[in-house]
Amino acid sequence: MDYYSKHINDLIEEFSRLPGIGSKSAGRLAFHIINMPEEQVKHLTDTIINAKKNVRYCKCCYTLTDDELCPICKSTKRDHETIMVVENTRDLAAYEKTGKFNGVYHVLHGAISPMLGIGPNDIKLKELMERLRGDVKEVIISTNSSLEGETTAVYISKLIKPLGIKVTRIASGVPVGGDLEYTDPVTLLKALEGRQEL
Ligand code: ZN
Repeated sequence: MDYYSKHINDLIEEFSRLPGIGSKSAGRLAFHIINMPEEQVKHLTDTIINAKKNVRYCKCCYTLTDDELCPICKSTKRDHETIMVVENTRDLAAYEKTGKFNGVYHVLHGAISPMLGIGPNDIKLKELMERLRGDVKEVIISTNSSLEGETTAVYISKLIKPLGIKVTRIASGVPVGGDLEYTDPVTLLKALEGRQEL
């Protein structure tokens, strides 16, 4: 890897740390950036820094947003007594794209995985339980149908049931092991409509 300048090698190394970027793609990106006009490079780095600085968790649902409260939590048109629990902001976006879910969300930022050493305290579960002290009619658990997603769903339902709040799980129309964010809207809607009480 000493064929290039040290700076190019550093760039390649940084890019290859990103998810889904292999060493070939990292090299392509690094050379692309070196060949870009300086103005454009500056715009790119500013955009990255601004996003990192200004994006934060919604203080209610913990999705990533620019303000204290996200637009969904702020909206008076949404049903705040129905909470859909998802693993990440991309899954929330997938359900929002269907345009048919009128409740609000809670974003866990992960799923319980004993294999990876991720426990209940490593995701935004305490924060969900805190929210359930208010008026909540139903919690729809829409974690992925992976082992981690199922483990998380069972764990959460056991916590919530004693509170007397209805807990449902989306139907397994979502392919087993499949990521919600890559599932088409029709399948997502079917999974939501076919949800079953836990
Ligand atoms: Zn929110």
